[in-house]
Amino acid sequence: MANRSQTADHSGKRVYLFGAGRTDGTADMKNLLGGKGANLAEMASLGLPVPPGFTITTAVSTDYYRNGKRLPDGLKAEVEDALDHVGKAVGARFGDRAAPLLVSVRSGARASMPGMMDTILNLGLTDETVKALAAKSDNARFAYDSYRRFIQMYSDVVLGVDHGVFEDILSNHKNLNGFSLDTDLSADDWQDIIAAYKKAIEQETGKPFPQDTQEQLWGAISAVFSSWQNDRAKTYRRLHGIPDSWGTAVNVQAMVFGNLGDSSATGVAFTRNPSTGTREIYGEFLVNAQGEDVVAGIRTPQPLTEAARKEAGETAPSLEALMPKTFGELKQAFANLEKRYRDMQDIEFTIQDGKLWMLQTRSGKRTTKAALKIAADMVKEGLISEEDAVLRIEPSGLDQLLHPSIDPQAEKTVVARGLPASPGAAAGEIVFDADEAEAMRGRGREVILVRVETSPEDIHGMHAATGILTARGGMTSHAAVVARGMGRPCVCGAGALRIDYAAGTMRVGAETFKKGDIITIDGGTGEVLKGRVKMRQPELSGDFATVMQWADRARRLGVRVNADTPREARQAREFGAEGIGLCRTEHMFFDESRILAMREMICADDEAGRRKALAKMLPMQRSDFEELFEIMAGLPVTIRLLDPPLHEFLPHEDKEAAAVAKELNVPLEKLRGRVAELHEFNPMLGFRGCRLAIRYPEITEMQARAIFEAAVNAGKKTGKPVMPEVMIPLIAYRTEFDILREVIARTAEAVAKETGAKLNYQIGTMIELPRAALRAREIAEGETGAEFFSFGTNDLTQTCLGLSRDDAAPILANYAERAIFDSDPFVSIDQEGVGELVRIGTERGRAVRADLKVGICGEHGGDPASVNFCHDAGLDYVSCSAFRLPVARLAAAQAAIKAKGAGEAPTSS
Ligand code: PEP
Ligand code: MG
Repeated sequence: MANRSQTADHSGKRVYLFGAGRTDGTADMKNLLGGKGANLAEMASLGLPVPPGFTITTAVSTDYYRNGKRLPDGLKAEVEDALDHVGKAVGARFGDRAAPLLVSVRSGARASMPGMMDTILNLGLTDETVKALAAKSDNARFAYDSYRRFIQMYSDVVLGVDHGVFEDILSNHKNLNGFSLDTDLSADDWQDIIAAYKKAIEQETGKPFPQDTQEQLWGAISAVFSSWQNDRAKTYRRLHGIPDSWGTAVNVQAMVFGNLGDSSATGVAFTRNPSTGTREIYGEFLVNAQGEDVVAGIRTPQPLTEAARKEAGETAPSLEALMPKTFGELKQAFANLEKRYRDMQDIEFTIQDGKLWMLQTRSGKRTTKAALKIAADMVKEGLISEEDAVLRIEPSGLDQLLHPSIDPQAEKTVVARGLPASPGAAAGEIVFDADEAEAMRGRGREVILVRVETSPEDIHGMHAATGILTARGGMTSHAAVVARGMGRPCVCGAGALRIDYAAGTMRVGAETFKKGDIITIDGGTGEVLKGRVKMRQPELSGDFATVMQWADRARRLGVRVNADTPREARQAREFGAEGIGLCRTEHMFFDESRILAMREMICADDEAGRRKALAKMLPMQRSDFEELFEIMAGLPVTIRLLDPPLHEFLPHEDKEAAAVAKELNVPLEKLRGRVAELHEFNPMLGFRGCRLAIRYPEITEMQARAIFEAAVNAGKKTGKPVMPEVMIPLIAYRTEFDILREVIARTAEAVAKETGAKLNYQIGTMIELPRAALRAREIAEGETGAEFFSFGTNDLTQTCLGLSRDDAAPILANYAERAIFDSDPFVSIDQEGVGELVRIGTERGRAVRADLKVGICGEHGGDPASVNFCHDAGLDYVSCSAFRLPVARLAAAQAAIKAKGAGEAPTSS
């Protein structure tokens, strides 16, 4: 399949026809034709009614940018030829005064980017051709309305005239004539408005509105190519990891009209419910409307099916009742498309005078809950395999399932109801503006973004918000689609809300909410609730459990947790952890009740003083480890020796220092002196990790004793073997490892002798410094070498890049903007650099110790792309925080399936 997913056509072909008596493309040519173009070609090949048209390839977009926004020579001739084909298929000619061909010009990238780029409809209308349209449709009002829509869209997108200019003209005309709705305007009204529009355009641009259809066409094609680089599209790409280099295709297609009267309509549909995954046709339509009207959320659309109409308590008829024959054809088309693509489809259609036209199909965006249900159902229906089902779920989307829901026992006051657009409950302060939402989030506040409706300009605010609430728009409105994609809880179309941006208020009946007031929304029921309502954590059973079972069957990588507390360890077992990959022992001392012993140890004058303090720490560590071993009974537990710089435990503020000095019963000056002594300019590269234990081996002695005594106790209690793995942090030299290994082994021997128990343990090391990765052979070599490696990729990234973990944020932000790297290297592993060290370390270590266990425990362990890398690099396991475990399990399974080459048939995404 991959060999057909072209990015360039070496024949030099730039224009691909569809449905014009000839169809050149196929579904698997998305890279070249964009998603929309490839799927239009596929629908035409399936014999579905697609308005004829053609696609200009993404390769042209790349050329366009490479050549300083110039379209390549020869394109014109190819486009003219294609236009001829299209014209013949519909009995019209582009620019002809008697039978003019009208077209839409739309973008279409490889990945769907809904609403981010530009579209122009009704292109080809001029003062002359509009007359032909009026005559042919026998509907002058429709023709002039279409013309003014075209002028408006074209002037906004191509000529850069602010749309406010047109809105003012239209509302003035309405006011003067006492009209309230657009439908009150006659053909003559629209002609007056068109004259006013044209005058305004000439004033704004210094040129008349183009009457040459060729000029219109090329202006539109260039504008659509240019829209790849608009701010909205750039932000969307950044948030969704879509490379700039892909470019967009342009689709030019014969117009069909859903606004020709009451036997015409336009709609959008999903072949299954995108919110719950239920197998039912799900969608909306508007009679006598153009496509954009449905998603714009200005008129309230009607449901497609009778069942949905009844459930919503709607009085307006469903499409099923209104146009049963066309609905039947539509249903058949849905079934064909699902069978062909073996996935839920998101479809746009238009009905012109009772005739159905399919405008678009693509793999539908869905909530993770729906994705799991659809995948599990499609396996049962025999449409896809279990492995396909695993590949269908976006790992990072599993986060959505971990959203809390409203506690059914909670007291709640419902202030309004809207549509349950994206599941999960969220609470926060009301904000009415996307920029403000982003700013407040930056200050650590939780906000609910409240808008009349959202538009692509709001995406950064939607991303920053914990939940989204709108007063207008349906389940396929911008807010609903984007929120589902982002996994944000969303309630939309809560019609009772009266939002006043200027006053910063939201009124519902007699009640007024102000900016900053707390509300809760329930994206599963559509309720808007007063205040912060009690929530409940999710249950991970049903389809989730089924798909995760398939994932576990497919994966090779082990999955462990980074956990320091019994609560985390228990949670981790629920989420499928196969052991602990990193227990950061220092975290066990940050607790108020324990830090004193640590401080006493740090302030001690000599070894005897330190040992006295360590003796107080021993039982605390032992009981912690014992509990972890019990929870993880029978599973490996990696415990890392004390790692951070000691000054992290000491007070820095004067007031706090005085209190601590008093508690420790040492003079304040002495404590201050110790803080000053421990001060480092670069603590991340300073007195930490194994360097601490090499200076103070008694710390390691205490920790090793706590580990082994706990192992003996837990083993007795659970009756299961305890498998501690003692891990030495931050080594660069084999000698460092040897020094501490000797202390650990000696302590183990002592505990074994004292207790009479047989201890089963391993001693290994973290690989966090480039030198350790390079000298891995020496570190693992021989009987006393490291028995396991765990790549600490947080430190390894810091030391490989020479970029401080603590100070990187502003540098990273600047680098992301300058596209120096695709993603934050502290989030997704830098595969070429840090990754190479991981590969080198693994290979060299295994060269001398074939059974060397190798894992990763940096934050990257829960990042899907990094997990995929770890699979390829041959690691044994990844370790990540508890809530990332499902993500890691799924990503590990996908990596294994992809590596086997068990890919999928093309989908329409
Ligand atoms: C690491 O460096 O990747 C690691 C897991 O250790 P820490 O984050 O505690 O330094
Ligand atoms: Mg580290």
